[in-house]
Amino acid sequence: MAEQLGEFDLIERIRRRLGAQADVVLGIGDDAAIVTPLPDRQLVVGTDTLVKGVHYPVETAAADVGWKALAVNLSDLAAMAARPRWVTLALTRPEADAAWLDDFLDGFLALAVAHGVALVGGDTTRGPEGITVTAFGSVPADQALRRDAARLGDDLWVTGTLGDAALALQHWRETGRIENDMLAARLNRPTPRVAFGLALRGIAHAAIDVSDGLLADAGHIARASSLGIELQADALPMSDDLAALPSLARQGLQLAGGDDYELCFSAPVAKASQVQSAAEACDVRVTRIGRVVDSAGIRVLGPGGQVLSLSEQGYRHFAS
Ligand code: ADP
Ligand code: MG
Repeated sequence: MAEQLGEFDLIERIRRRLGAQADVVLGIGDDAAIVTPLPDRQLVVGTDTLVKGVHYPVETAAADVGWKALAVNLSDLAAMAARPRWVTLALTRPEADAAWLDDFLDGFLALAVAHGVALVGGDTTRGPEGITVTAFGSVPADQALRRDAARLGDDLWVTGTLGDAALALQHWRETGRIENDMLAARLNRPTPRVAFGLALRGIAHAAIDVSDGLLADAGHIARASSLGIELQADALPMSDDLAALPSLARQGLQLAGGDDYELCFSAPVAKASQVQSAAEACDVRVTRIGRVVDSAGIRVLGPGGQVLSLSEQGYRHFAS
């Protein structure tokens, strides 16, 4: 039988794996953590929960669950152009087995170390598996990229490729497995675009991370900014695996798939070359996919400029 841990052994097992960080005065072990914010920065706070079987397939490896739980939170900070600094981890598990925890931490801490993020506290409870991470980042005053700041005439851009994670999930639903390693990695190990988010300060106007599908998330920018967005269907970036699909199936995944964790942002037309050089410096692919217009809503245009009709609305929790 797997080694079982008491709550305090479990917390100690987490604590032992952490290094020191200069801006952490007091980490795990007291009633709460103490950190030192920078005097001339705003604090950016986000939280996201992953529930087993809802946000990741039940067979997902513990290390991938750890990575993804942190990645989705860092992606939110990236979309605000905030530098991630501290996180807390609320862990719910039916049992506290050492092997699962160690694997989970392998994934979680690999990403935390890569981004210089300190795990400063959390909570541990027994119940159906779920992970809540709260992430704290910093940004110079008024330089965060908000959803409500798109301007008329902006270009709309997206990083990376769209629809890969959704295709992976489709394979898993149909066959119970994901044989293509690239697709599996896009679902289980999303890359939060942290450096590129920081590079967009002073260049982009509005930004969001694509978690629920491009249509839904670009729609949030449009609505919050009281403007509209036109997307160019044939401009949407895709991997070779997506390119092999029939175009309707492919566009459904690109527009409404979700779990991409790419950045979608608007920037003035005059800054297009700055967007390109920032992307090159960060080794991130970036594609101009549309523009910000004044008539409300989101429209997808075909090659001849005709408006395509859309049946898929992106993934919504509690949607009937
Ligand atoms: P309290 O009863 O005061 O809430 P806990 O026993 O929940 O204290 O937590 C003790 C310490 O361990 C705290 O510093 C808390 O932040 C930390 N901690 C608990 N669970 C986790 C976890 N899953 N990950 C990181 N830190 C944790
Ligand atoms: Mg507690």
